[in-house]
Amino acid sequence: MVEHETVVHDITRPAAQPGGWVEREATGRAVVRCTCGLDSGIVAATQAVQIADDHRRTSAEART
Ligand SMILES: [Zn+2]
Repeated sequence: MVEHETVVHDITRPAAQPGGWVEREATGRAVVRCTCGLDSGIVAATQAVQIADDHRRTSAEART
């Protein structure tokens, strides 16, 4: 049986701050990955959430 652990990874970029330290800054983009091998590539964060939801729903239906 294929396990589905769908995760949305927010993509951040390093933003250099005065003083030499670096902060992670959200880019509004994300990647969806699942333990079944799904990889959405880089999409808008809002779209990533939708893809993850759709995938969870589809995989739950396929299981029954
Ligand atoms: Zn999956």
